[in-house]
Amino acid sequence: MTITGDMLIGASAVRGTSKIQQAINPATGEVLGPDFHGGGAAEAERACALAEAAFDIYRNTSPEARAALLESIASGIEALGDELIERAHAESALPVARLQGERGRTANQLRLFARVLRDGRWQAATLDPALPERTPPRPDLRLQKIAVGPVAVFGASNFPLAFSVAGGDTASALAAGCPVIVKAHSAHLGTSELVGRVIQNAVADAGLPEGVFSLLVGAGNEIGTALVAHPAIQAVGFTGSRAGGLALVQTANNRAQPIPVYAEMSSINPVFLLPAALQARGAGIARDLVDSLVMGVGQFCTNPGLVLAVDSPALDVFRQGAAAALTDKAAATMLTPGICRAYDNGVAQFGEIEGLLRIGSGQTATGPNQACPALFETSAERFLADHRMQAEVFGPASVLVVCRDLEEMLSVARHLEGQLTATVQADADDHALAASLLTVLERKAGRVLFNGYPTGVEVSFAMVHGGPFPATSDTRATSVGASAIERFLRPVCYQNLPAALLPPALQDGNPLGLWRLANGELARH
Ligand code: NAP
Repeated sequence: MTITGDMLIGASAVRGTSKIQQAINPATGEVLGPDFHGGGAAEAERACALAEAAFDIYRNTSPEARAALLESIASGIEALGDELIERAHAESALPVARLQGERGRTANQLRLFARVLRDGRWQAATLDPALPERTPPRPDLRLQKIAVGPVAVFGASNFPLAFSVAGGDTASALAAGCPVIVKAHSAHLGTSELVGRVIQNAVADAGLPEGVFSLLVGAGNEIGTALVAHPAIQAVGFTGSRAGGLALVQTANNRAQPIPVYAEMSSINPVFLLPAALQARGAGIARDLVDSLVMGVGQFCTNPGLVLAVDSPALDVFRQGAAAALTDKAAATMLTPGICRAYDNGVAQFGEIEGLLRIGSGQTATGPNQACPALFETSAERFLADHRMQAEVFGPASVLVVCRDLEEMLSVARHLEGQLTATVQADADDHALAASLLTVLERKAGRVLFNGYPTGVEVSFAMVHGGPFPATSDTRATSVGASAIERFLRPVCYQNLPAALLPPALQDGNPLGLWRLANGELARH
């Protein structure tokens, strides 16, 4: 498939007239053709008008039709074969094996939402039959969930496939019945176009209105801001920086009609090493934790940026093991020059904080845009006193916080900002403390893990990839897993609707065979 540098607005390839952007290979600095002709407010307007025109037709397609669309996109992405992987590798410097895995995950996400659609529970069909004899009489009430409207999705820099053009936000919004307009991330423009063309073709092959999908490109904030501000857009999915996410939340709140922005922003993913586990497995935990820290050059939202333990001889073993393991880790190329600069600045700023000492380093950079892994240490007392130590340094950097005792560890846990994940390394003798910690961590994180590492997010029905601010802008939502569809649905109650006008999910006789809550009882008849 030829990459042209055009935007995809509905069925058309559109050459923008604002600033030209170029894809860059971060490993070499080489410019990767072609030029991408960015758009502005006019192109956002055109995509939004098409999305609005498509909305009623698309949301009223059958769940089966939307499931088939998602499956066709998944197959189309797989059919791109090596071309997609090679382009994504050139644009991101992510290893080929990682990108192949990410492609599988992207296809699986699309297929998961096809399954969700066929299962039907997403509609939350609920029937409260009329009670005419009651005083006062109860009307016939029936509830189902429907799509919110066109959705804007911002592709993430750190997942060129799984959180970008056909990533989790797009898959869940398309499943819900929402047209999607993606703002491509400037870090992987060619990858975005390849995947965008797959979706554009799938929409056309399914005979759906062209406005079901558009892909916009644009440097600077103009096109993204115009998109979020447009009255047709009813929700936003975003993964990126805290500053970017908050700017979009503000744009959404300043609209005449404010809308939800589901922004996944910053998280340092604390790992608590409890005493018995540290004593029994400290050296192994050190090795595995360092592997998790440097995985993907630390560019995972769930990267372990904070480690907490009580001072003890076992902690000395852990500390030495972690520092030694880090020494062997090579510097590796980050996604973009900007992300590498931000990492280097973050590490330099940590180096200037009094009482925050660098206790471990990986190998120094040998090429452009490479991050050298770093491990810092501080005391709980200093950590509690200096909020700067909670800042996310996006990349392979972590801070070990040494606590005087278990009570101080709990104090640090209570003091933490919201997180995507919190991890507890605990053996049986730690369980009493783990129970106290769990009570605190449930309030802090979207996912609490035991005896594992936070990197690696399963795409499944029970997954939560969300959490209190600043991990996300809406603590009630997840951006990974089947529940992600909830962000793009809203409930509607139909009161005393004539039978002929009832939507299929709510009709007498249950023609779709759904699990429905009928008179308070879950039933399938
Ligand atoms: P970003 O700068 O927030 O950009 C993400 C997307 O939002 C891009 O498409 C960007 O447009 C757009 N954007 C940003 N600010 C905007 C604004 N004010 N108005 C309209 N659009 C805006 O994130 P990034 O480029 O991925 O990485 C920068 C930093 O984000 C990293 O160094 C890291 O700190 C953080 N990050 C965190 C996570 C996480 O999951 N925790 C993931 C990725 C990145 P352009 O493409 O035109 O810039």
